[in-house]
Amino acid sequence: MEKTTQLSVMGGGLVGCLLSLYLAKQGYRVDVYERRPDLRRTDIGGGRSINLALSDRGWRALETIGIAEDIKKVAIPMYRRVMHDKNGNLSFQPYGQEGQAIYSVSRGGLNQALLDLAEAEPTISLHFQQQVMEVEVATNKVTMLDTVSGQEHHVQPDVIFAADGAYSMVRLSLQKTDRFNYEQSYLDYGYKELTIPPAPDGGWQLEKNALHIWPRGQYMMIALPNVDGSFTCTLFFPYEGDPSFQSLQTEAQVNSFFQEIFPDVTALMPDLAQEFFENPVGSLVTIKCLPWRHSGKILLLGDAAHAIVPFYGQGMNAGFEDCTILRGLLEQHQDDWETIFQTFQDLRKPNTDAIADLAVYNFIEMRDKVADPRFLLQKKVESK
Ligand code: FAD
Repeated sequence: MEKTTQLSVMGGGLVGCLLSLYLAKQGYRVDVYERRPDLRRTDIGGGRSINLALSDRGWRALETIGIAEDIKKVAIPMYRRVMHDKNGNLSFQPYGQEGQAIYSVSRGGLNQALLDLAEAEPTISLHFQQQVMEVEVATNKVTMLDTVSGQEHHVQPDVIFAADGAYSMVRLSLQKTDRFNYEQSYLDYGYKELTIPPAPDGGWQLEKNALHIWPRGQYMMIALPNVDGSFTCTLFFPYEGDPSFQSLQTEAQVNSFFQEIFPDVTALMPDLAQEFFENPVGSLVTIKCLPWRHSGKILLLGDAAHAIVPFYGQGMNAGFEDCTILRGLLEQHQDDWETIFQTFQDLRKPNTDAIADLAVYNFIEMRDKVADPRFLLQKKVESK
């Protein structure tokens, strides 16, 4: 039976789309407001990362809405880490028991699949190019900018779900209320995405079913496979010092640095210098805040509530798990939003704080300790 409470989800990213589907399945009418154009019809590019590691928490959430099998068809299982040392020697660490894996999925592809499902639900309305500017917390009146016309207008839903990401405007409005705790910390490292294109025959130039790591002590590069035969590499690198994004200023400097530090892969990156200078440097932030809810009227979730650094590959997975938990609470407490939101916050906050801290720790583990023989579960060195 359709319910009359008017729900709005701010942000049509990964978490916002999944949540809207869960809410619609519970009989609610849902409006989704997304700042960007419809990514199924526009080449938006410049997103947060091209591919993501999807693990168990994420799969469980996708199974609930019946798309896990479809996504699995275009996901690449990564059964192990492959570490590349400076001499091109490889060593390996399995991710689990035989057959267990984390999966490389396309961020855009996953978001598109979720948008398709949301669009097919008669009770979900998707509104693109609508940017939340401010929420009047006492009344739930939202100032929205239509980025096409440049005009502002207002909406006033009964309940607001803020899935508008790490730089959430809904959260910013809550920050102006009394006793709202907020903490953000940036790493001194940024990230840049680079590409290993497919081989001439369309295959993968490195082992396909693996997450590749080039640990180099103070910094590192990783690579995840894409279905088109390419790999997306992410260089996690200091902003300042030597070496750093600041210290590599010319093509010659970039090429000679990569040839010295990542010798086995540099030859596979024909557009290295161009990409290095054209692709943006992304920052790495951890955000913790509390409360996530304002009475039974507003709830923060996903990165809006708990943005974490990507070294455990768990940001989206944790956001999807938010939706799974919320879904259970909705079934249990029906329209009692105050209870749902308070219980959600009580259940999730300790877990998301823990993964936030673990993710920062795992940066040290990945860039440094995976290269340490004492940490290798299974070590097999091959000369190239
Ligand atoms: P977002 O994906 O940020 O979506 C927010 C949406 O809200 C966007 O569509 C945005 O356009 C929209 N929006 C923003 N502001 C407004 C506004 N004012 N009004 C309306 N709409 C708005 N996680 C993993 O699980 N595995 C990984 O391997 C992984 N790798 C990562 C690699 C990198 C380099 C980074 C930076 C992150 C990675 N993450 C990973 C984390 C993951 O990207 C996030 O946790 C996830 O995208 C959060 O989803 P979300 O929907 O909460 O936020």
